[in-house]
Amino acid sequence: MEKAEIGLIGLGTMGSNLALNIAEKGHRIAVFNRTPEKTDAFVANAGTLRDRLVPCKSLAELAEAIRPPRPVIIMVLAGQPVDDQIAALRGELAANDIIIDAGNANFHDTVRRFKELEGSGLTFIGMGVSGGEEGARHGPSIMVGGTEASWKRVEKVITAISAKFKGEPCAAWLGPDGAGHFVKTIHNGIEYADMQMIAEIYGVLRDGLGMGPKEIAPVFAGWNKGRLDSYLIEITAKALEADDPKTGRPVVDIILDRAGQKGTGKWSVIEAQQLGIPATAIEAAVAARVLSSLKSEREAAEKAYGKLSVTTFSGARDEVLKDLELALLAGKIAAYAQGFAVMSGASKEFNWNLPMPTIARIWRAGCIIRSQMLDTMAEAFGKGGAEVNLLMAPAFIDMMKQAHPSLRRVVARAAEAGLPVPALSSALAYFDAYRQGRGTSNLIQAQRDFFGAHGFERIDAAGAFHGPWGGTQG
Ligand code: NDP
Repeated sequence: MEKAEIGLIGLGTMGSNLALNIAEKGHRIAVFNRTPEKTDAFVANAGTLRDRLVPCKSLAELAEAIRPPRPVIIMVLAGQPVDDQIAALRGELAANDIIIDAGNANFHDTVRRFKELEGSGLTFIGMGVSGGEEGARHGPSIMVGGTEASWKRVEKVITAISAKFKGEPCAAWLGPDGAGHFVKTIHNGIEYADMQMIAEIYGVLRDGLGMGPKEIAPVFAGWNKGRLDSYLIEITAKALEADDPKTGRPVVDIILDRAGQKGTGKWSVIEAQQLGIPATAIEAAVAARVLSSLKSEREAAEKAYGKLSVTTFSGARDEVLKDLELALLAGKIAAYAQGFAVMSGASKEFNWNLPMPTIARIWRAGCIIRSQMLDTMAEAFGKGGAEVNLLMAPAFIDMMKQAHPSLRRVVARAAEAGLPVPALSSALAYFDAYRQGRGTSNLIQAQRDFFGAHGFERIDAAGAFHGPWGGTQG
């Protein structure tokens, strides 16, 4: 029997769709799932792609079915199940075979697994996949970390199944060991910020302007035709339009305001902190999800402090909407600037040499944060400025100059009205602090020297100095 080009373990939501995608692109694929009934059902429902699927009931069968050197994608729940699968696979594979973890792994685990497989003859690829179910089936964005040689073995299949932006594949090898999973983590961190800012603007439209979902939907749909053109804005408009079949009410009105999270946002924040790179908009977005989960506490606090009276953002509706659009644009730019800065910091820290323009390019299609603006970002890298911070790229300086006054107005008016806009306001604070040539940390240094004799630098002489505080303080 003709050997399969690749194997896949884990026929859940992502794995089954990736397998169909691979088969559809003309590659034979061997598949295995812990629960064998799922493998049978999957193959039975694969329609015309069935002939390209090789169902396997054991890992030995799976290994036997693939052409060496054998690439095997593991698409199971992140964490211990991945370690268990690797341990089980090791006995079935041989030198030069490639284990690919395509789940949402913490990049520290990927680095560890890479090291654990060193010397075994097997190689490991940590592969971030974004795009959800639909992306996995028809073209996700794929972020690969591992050796370049192992990438070469799988490049043909991976680029074939990836999304395409104007014909260019949204898949790339980004660097060694944990590089791909790190980039996927930051992708998700940015996604958190993007989603939170959209939700905050929705909150202003709902509670500040008193608009219903059906009125808000066309506002987002309209913005999706401009510079905010993105998948998240598009689905926001669609979600606001949808009705609940049970009650007939807009679905968003019957959904509990308690957001879930699986950890990649939190990991982004932890890594940003470890690297010493401010990622305040992402932090605010993660914190906002945590606060959202405190539903009963929030309800009690609302009783204690009193319910907000419905406020209106006064002024011409068109002008307010224009401000909100530009505020979202400015907030988004600041959040992306933070995300790229974190990746840049990690690239230096771990000697990854992450290719920023490539990252922006492979995010232009297939992934959840795909947008027109990522095309502008891809162009900005390499033209100067962006390497330091996206806020310093000429194209983004122009956009921020136009948009930041709106972000300022929206944040100020939301604060006055009592409407929470934590991600937008932290993005504004980041921007204001970043662009301030002389800040206020001179006073922090004075305080540190006052209580701890930490010393400070002077503006007019090199060296370390102490202030005339008069003795040690506790
Ligand atoms: P599902 O819950 O749909 O499927 C989980 C799969 O993992 C099943 O095949 C299940 O097998 C298998 N599995 C679970 N535990 C074990 C174990 N201990 N040993 C062996 N197999 C196990 O998950 P998804 O497909 O949604 O997610 C898979 C990975 O992809 C995760 O890392 C997730 O974070 C990541 N991901 C998910 C996205 C999404 O939108 N859903 C997007 C991007 C990445 P069984 O049938 O026997 O239970």
